[in-house]
Amino acid sequence: MNDATWADGWLQRAQRIDSPHFGVRPEGTAISLAVIHSISLPPGEYGSDAIERLFTGQLDWDAHPYFERIRGLEVSSHFVVRRGGELQQFVSCDLRAWHAGLSSWRGRADCNDYSVGIELEGLEGEAFEPAQYDELARLLTELRCRYPLFGVAGHEHVAPGRKCDPGLGFDWPRLIEMLGWPRHFFPTEVAPPC
Ligand SMILES: [Zn+2]
Repeated sequence: MNDATWADGWLQRAQRIDSPHFGVRPEGTAISLAVIHSISLPPGEYGSDAIERLFTGQLDWDAHPYFERIRGLEVSSHFVVRRGGELQQFVSCDLRAWHAGLSSWRGRADCNDYSVGIELEGLEGEAFEPAQYDELARLLTELRCRYPLFGVAGHEHVAPGRKCDPGLGFDWPRLIEMLGWPRHFFPTEVAPPC
């Protein structure tokens, strides 16, 4: 189904950058969860094209000492929200991106099967920009209009102890207030430290 907002799972107003890192969702799987992440490459450095390169399989692993630690990593996310609020999309929401890894949400395993991944350009423990909250709230609203979404969680909530993004710098009460959605959409517990 398409409308003016979406076309084949692509949000039309986002900058589209096709990633080869995706698969099909299991047949009949509804998209019910949004997983919030944070990423910066190298960690703490913003504004380069390293995230796009990683998600499109074009990162030069020798370009920075940190990249050696993730050499060969094949990952993607549906969306990235840059520090200035710019929105990029790498995988159609109708397809399965590789963002959550080993994970479960409310007792259900393999979040990649039924979730949309949203990366905020940032660093665990550090604050995010107001423009990123604005874009995130707008994006989640559009997702909920299009898909039967009934949950929003951090990577740290679906992979506790293994992942700790977006981390303590992410202001959940702020997002919850901006969206005005029922409280049960959101994490009820603080994720354990990694
Ligand atoms: Zn993550």
